[in-house]
Amino acid sequence: MKVQQYGEYLWQVRSAWFPVNAYLVRESDGFTVIDSLLGAGDADALQALAQRLGGDIRRIVLTHGHIDHIGGFDRLHAIAPQAEVIVGAREARFLAGDLQLDASEQAHPLRGGYTTVRTVPTRLVGDADMIGSLRVVATPGHTPGHLSFFDSRDATIITGDALHTVGRVTITSELYWKFPFPATATWSKSHANASVAQLATLNPSRLAPGHGQVVADPAEQLAAALTRVQGQ
Ligand SMILES: [Zn+2]
Repeated sequence: MKVQQYGEYLWQVRSAWFPVNAYLVRESDGFTVIDSLLGAGDADALQALAQRLGGDIRRIVLTHGHIDHIGGFDRLHAIAPQAEVIVGAREARFLAGDLQLDASEQAHPLRGGYTTVRTVPTRLVGDADMIGSLRVVATPGHTPGHLSFFDSRDATIITGDALHTVGRVTITSELYWKFPFPATATWSKSHANASVAQLATLNPSRLAPGHGQVVADPAEQLAAALTRVQGQ
């Protein structure tokens, strides 16, 4: 478990076992946790970090339903029962075990590892909803219901697997040899590309991905990533 703070509000927590990240976002009433890493031990560590930083976990949020982001989810809910549990409305169906695609989604097969969770969300969200200071940005592509989160205070974007930054900023539609896993788990390349194009228009100060380091001042790297996937 490796922890690093970025700016005033963001802590990145990286698993010791696999390069996957969760985030703590500081709010006036405590912390929002985004994603939950691989297992119960990770959830315990996220809770311990929040307490060491002097706040309670107030909200538990997921970017998407892939197994490497939700392993600690049920445990986190169990040890922070006061926290709201907030999931994208579309992704919630995957978490409940319904892997069927809607008619509009069937041009591409669902990819990547899914598992079910026991915890029932207390709130379902979609594009433009607010979670504390975070604005929900619907970023379908990696999964049909994938969400990113834009911190309105400092323009950080928590991107989940809309992109990764292992080696460089890479949209998860693009298979990059340094870290191929997100691309192999991506549902729709065209949706993924359009979603990252939209994230770029928000002029982020910082990208906080599900896999890889936090990247500051990402405009050039985002433009390069979008150029590489043109015509895909
Ligand atoms: Zn994923």
